[in-house]
Amino acid sequence: MSTDPRARAWLELSGDALLANYRAVRAAVGSEPAIIPAVKADGYGLGMLEVCRILEGEGPGAYAVATVAEGHELRASGIMRPIHLIGPVAPGSEEAALSADLTLTVSSTETLDRLRRAAERLGRPGLFQVEVDTGMGRAGFPDSDVARWAPLVAAAAAPPLRWVGIYTHFHSAEDPDGTSVGRQRARFGATLEALPGIPKGVTRHLSNSAAALRFGGMGDGAVRPGIFLYGGRVAEDLPAPQPVAALKARVIHVREAEPGSSVGYGATHVAAERERWATLGVGYGDGLPRAFGPGGSVLLRGVRAPIIGRISMDMTVVDISNVPGVEVGQVATVLGSDPDGAGAITLEEIAERSGTISYEVLTGFTRRLPRLWRVGETGRPGGGPSEGPRAPIPLT
Ligand SMILES: *Cc1c(COP(=O)(O)O)cnc(C)c1O
Repeated sequence: MSTDPRARAWLELSGDALLANYRAVRAAVGSEPAIIPAVKADGYGLGMLEVCRILEGEGPGAYAVATVAEGHELRASGIMRPIHLIGPVAPGSEEAALSADLTLTVSSTETLDRLRRAAERLGRPGLFQVEVDTGMGRAGFPDSDVARWAPLVAAAAAPPLRWVGIYTHFHSAEDPDGTSVGRQRARFGATLEALPGIPKGVTRHLSNSAAALRFGGMGDGAVRPGIFLYGGRVAEDLPAPQPVAALKARVIHVREAEPGSSVGYGATHVAAERERWATLGVGYGDGLPRAFGPGGSVLLRGVRAPIIGRISMDMTVVDISNVPGVEVGQVATVLGSDPDGAGAITLEEIAERSGTISYEVLTGFTRRLPRLWRVGETGRPGGGPSEGPRAPIPLT
């Protein structure tokens, strides 16, 4: 027994676009730095396992996750590459992390102690990276205090612990004025100089998507792009990524609305004249931000149709008075480009109208939306042999 994943609402995801965006990052940073895709939060909501499966052939240096469970899920799916936990883990999670060969981040000497004890108990090496706080403020050893922690970290970097990386995180790399990035780089550089004897093979990395695209590789050992890979535009003055995600929703009801008819909770829209309304099978329970409507619109039969009334959990109503020929069963584009040529609704349009950012829109899509990945539709860019079209893969 199965239910058609396209029955109601679903996400169409382009593996080709994901690959193209990865290659755009590679082109921006040059051949030297390793690329560590951030695949946390289920690959920014799009499906971590499928994202990694698609990117594996590009030879990423590692994958970056935020939780021990995400790391375990990657290992269980057969990923052999290094997996970096970026950010602190809750105390007590060290053994679980090491048992899956995850690389931990240390932001305090207490974490180093816990990590050492966990590695000793398990009898296996404890790989770690040092995070330096140069202004992000949420994690990392404070750079101002390097004289205190530097000798402790250097002393701890002995078996069973192994120091493999050192990094910091930019807070404003999307800003076209690069002064904050410059300042954080300088603080990071000064910290490195104050650190005695960083072992050979310790990788330095700083850049998120915005910094990697804006400033290139900058001689770093690795970069950590996330949002750009998934089709999120990092800044107006930087090249747009290829869109990866499209949200489609089926028309599940059509009606004529007499003047005075109201729609939605709070009856915030009342037909002033005769109108035609279509109900789409998608709502905030799918992750379409409630704040997107009214004021937002969808694409239907080559026309932009405005959302009327409040978006509810499972349904969204659009005014189709100016959209001829709408019938139950047709498909509206809520995010993505219109197959009938009415342009596109971008991630940024939804995010801005909803008072949030592309990251939150993507990671907000709920499990109720089937993720349908397509890979190899347009052939592989870069001259490699095409794998040919693959059937969409329902993942959830
Ligand atoms: C999420 C994250 C990234 C990726 O950032 P994007 O802005 O999505 O490119 C890189 N590094 C760290 C530490 C992160 O938390």
